[in-house]
Amino acid sequence: MDEFAAERLRMVAEGLAGRDVRDPRVLQALREIPRHRFVPPEQRVHAYADTPLPIGAGQTISQPYMVGKMTELLALTGAERVLEIGTGSGYQTALLCRLAARIYTVERLPELQQRALALLAALGQTNVTARLGDGHQGWPEEAPFDAILVTAAPTEVPPALVTQLAPGGRLVLPVGERWSRQVLVRLRRAPTGELTREELFPVSFVPLVAS
Ligand code: SAH
Repeated sequence: MDEFAAERLRMVAEGLAGRDVRDPRVLQALREIPRHRFVPPEQRVHAYADTPLPIGAGQTISQPYMVGKMTELLALTGAERVLEIGTGSGYQTALLCRLAARIYTVERLPELQQRALALLAALGQTNVTARLGDGHQGWPEEAPFDAILVTAAPTEVPPALVTQLAPGGRLVLPVGERWSRQVLVRLRRAPTGELTREELFPVSFVPLVAS
């Protein structure tokens, strides 16, 4: 427990469970992960408002509702190998670490990656491997993945990520141009290999930067 515990429980009760995030494992992990440690000190008082916040380098930690909703859409049971694109603050990574077996996370900015990894280590997360690079390429050496989550928006679904999705796997990502007309997309690969694409709802993410 910490000084923000009551605020954090309220955030989950009102902003997530009070809306349509239902997965009990997702909700419990969000009650426990100290979001205030993933934001810059000057943002700490806002850490449990249901809103995105700046984390430096022009990037943002996503709104808690969005983090919960996207994670729920991955339908994690605990056994999965997960690829995350856009480590950022590491908050979403910490959530994935608690809900799946092994997390592979890709970030392009070294300063954000270093801060995130130091914090994940301090919180005792040992099931995460990180790489610096362009998320459009995924992580071919570790593929296939049971779940892939992208937290910055490409203009189109990156073909490499689709290739790296295991049979039965789920890929969740925002797709579209900067600030407008972005939509949250879920691609599912059936055990037989066939793909289905769902366009879920409008979103607003920072761009997945092309290298
Ligand atoms: N999930 C993060 C959100 C970070 S914002 C969090 O919870 O804090 C999106 C992140 O994607 C930023 O850190 C940005 O640097 C990173 N990013 C943008 N383009 C990228 C690319 N092509 N490859 C890898 N990471 C990228």
